[in-house]
Amino acid sequence: MLLLAQAPQPDGAGVRPGTLPSAWITGGPDCAAVPDWQIHPYNEDFYILRESGCTNYEKPFLYLLFGKERALLEDTGAGKSDAARIVSQVIAKWLAQKGRTSIPLIVAHSHSHGDHVAGDPGFRGMDNVTMVPLTLEGTRQFFGIEKWPEGIGWIDLGERVLDVIPIPGHDALSIAFYDRQTGILLTGDSLYPGRLYVRDFPEFVRSSARLVEFTRGKVVAHVLGTHIEEMSTPYRDYPVGTKYQPEEHSLALSRGHLLELKEALESMDKPARYALRDFTIWPQEPRTAPKKQ
Ligand SMILES: [Zn+2]
Ligand SMILES: [Zn+2]
Repeated sequence: MLLLAQAPQPDGAGVRPGTLPSAWITGGPDCAAVPDWQIHPYNEDFYILRESGCTNYEKPFLYLLFGKERALLEDTGAGKSDAARIVSQVIAKWLAQKGRTSIPLIVAHSHSHGDHVAGDPGFRGMDNVTMVPLTLEGTRQFFGIEKWPEGIGWIDLGERVLDVIPIPGHDALSIAFYDRQTGILLTGDSLYPGRLYVRDFPEFVRSSARLVEFTRGKVVAHVLGTHIEEMSTPYRDYPVGTKYQPEEHSLALSRGHLLELKEALESMDKPARYALRDFTIWPQEPRTAPKKQ
């Protein structure tokens, strides 16, 4: 009976391994020397792209996963994002490595905020690209989620199944992806080392609990979100708008952080700002929330 995210032996737990960089490029100190995108292969079928802080201070992370039959991109970047150009280059390189000529691409989103969809126009009308609709109903149908948000959907990229878990609260449209192949859980803006802006607090509490339940008994190699705002110093973050973050926190969190989030949320009598070691719960009034996240 596997109640925890555990394996019988410390032997890699049967998930496909990969590597993360020891530090990411952020946005400086000299923007002239900073590439627009950092492209990191976690392994040869899983790419992490980070937009430069010199392009947009949000410097979001994008994820590109390849299966045997199709690829899936999570998010398209912020501001003047030219994600379509850079993703096309990564795909072309992948195809050359595999000796293939084409692979269909699905463009999905962790949620609907502007700093994750800004590069969408570049993908529209591209050959071999399917955009997941940026609506709750369209997203629900695309991933075969019977009941929103309690149900779980999935997509098979070809010998690579991703589970799709609705986690509204930061945004009505927030979803998490669980990649069974690597054991990586992609949590978008709902859990990352930074300020977790909560628009709908009761919904966010329930989503965190459901994500804990979903991961129970599953191997979780990394929890990867879409920003880093935290410093490597515990309980400290970089102010909103910071481009250059030479001492930023690592991208990867663990299921332990998810448990910590759930516990903290459930301990609150009412929504309140709550700084933990590696992230801060940051409730916002849905109506007065700034548009940026
Ligand atoms: Zn957001
Ligand atoms: Zn964001």
